[in-house]
Amino acid sequence: MKAEIIAVGTELLLGQIANTNAQFLSRKLAEIGVSVYFHSVVGDNAKRLDETIKLAASRSDLVIFSGGLGPTQDDLTKETVAAHLGRSLMTDELAMQRITAFFEQRGIVMTENNRKQALVIDGSTVFANDHGMAPGMGYTKDGVTYVLLPGPPSELYPMVDRYVMPFLMDLLPGKQVFHSRVLCFFGIGESALEERLLDLIESQSNPTIAPYAKEFEVTLRITARAQTVEEAERLIVPVEAEIRSRLGQYVYATGETSLHQVLVESLKDRQETIAFAESCTGGTLASLVTSIAGSSAVFPGSIVCYSNQAKHDLLDIPQEVLDAEGAVSEKTAKLLAENVRAKLHTTHGVSVTGVAGPDSAEGKPVGLVYIGVASEGYPTVVKQLQLSGRRQAIIGRTAKTALFHALQ
Ligand code: ATP
Ligand code: MG
Repeated sequence: MKAEIIAVGTELLLGQIANTNAQFLSRKLAEIGVSVYFHSVVGDNAKRLDETIKLAASRSDLVIFSGGLGPTQDDLTKETVAAHLGRSLMTDELAMQRITAFFEQRGIVMTENNRKQALVIDGSTVFANDHGMAPGMGYTKDGVTYVLLPGPPSELYPMVDRYVMPFLMDLLPGKQVFHSRVLCFFGIGESALEERLLDLIESQSNPTIAPYAKEFEVTLRITARAQTVEEAERLIVPVEAEIRSRLGQYVYATGETSLHQVLVESLKDRQETIAFAESCTGGTLASLVTSIAGSSAVFPGSIVCYSNQAKHDLLDIPQEVLDAEGAVSEKTAKLLAENVRAKLHTTHGVSVTGVAGPDSAEGKPVGLVYIGVASEGYPTVVKQLQLSGRRQAIIGRTAKTALFHALQ
């Protein structure tokens, strides 16, 4: 099979970014024995893209595109490939649902051009975008397979590992299976994790090990290729064991999941409940937990107590404590956790209070956060964190850290 890669984007031609997607794709194709004969880069221009497609189709069996699947005017890869194939575009329902949910969750009004991201070539195999909005797709006509992928590496890499490689394996003679195991990490950044596993990542080609950052969490996909799933499993087991022996303390789950999902499921299993007292996260914890279907069985509610007055009036934090220690303090976090648990009659009460910034408060630095966990039958635990980053990042990371501690 002869393959080529077409990267679309004027910023590549201007030298503003390097064509790392082509490098990644070539490496992946080499792993499965597909020869790549050409790399092309073309700007965001329909005419020149069309010329490039025609040339590629005349000489290759597989043409992979990167970029230009987004919502804006200059994103025209799908339209141009569809025209080349004589196919129309249609809305992919799953992608549309994900896009709508994204905007609803963030309370942003969706514009018409965002709908464009859910369009796929009619009759194509759709690759879901688990880390962004525009799905990828594959389509075969006259012996040439066209694969369209989003430009951002954070979206393209996991899409290739999870969906595109199995799709390509199916096209190859002498079928093999692709099988993977995902480990979910919290409390370690993507680059730190990669550094601790670099020797493994670099020395392994079967299975491959690929970390991806996702909303303050990191997931690691271990993918093996073999004749059968069982055989692939056998290749994965020792690699997973080595990873766990190095970084097991950060692993909170196996499989495609999230901290809030694991929390809801484990509380359900144990028939326990949880309530939150949220100061600096302003309801983010409640929002995360209620995004999981069935959370009502474990979550009666969250009290957002942003001001000192609210902490006093809604959760009985004594004025003396607020005056002497401040709202952002170990003592306040402890009382908030205990009091919300008592008020909402739950197994666990979790509190967050901190300085999200951009300005310091109570003479305390931006990023100082206290998380309290009060659980039936245990002494209340308060964790102090010093986070860095902008306001939204501090809030997001605080919420995820609170969920992580609630899981412990
Ligand atoms: P978006 O929805 O973000 O617009 P897209 O599929 O339309 O995605 P582009 O607009 O072409 O993709 O590129 C988006 C971003 O992805 C670029 O700004 C760049 O950061 C990155 N990117 C695009 N192409 C490549 C490439 N070939 N190699 C590395 N990074 C790339
Ligand atoms: Mg774009």
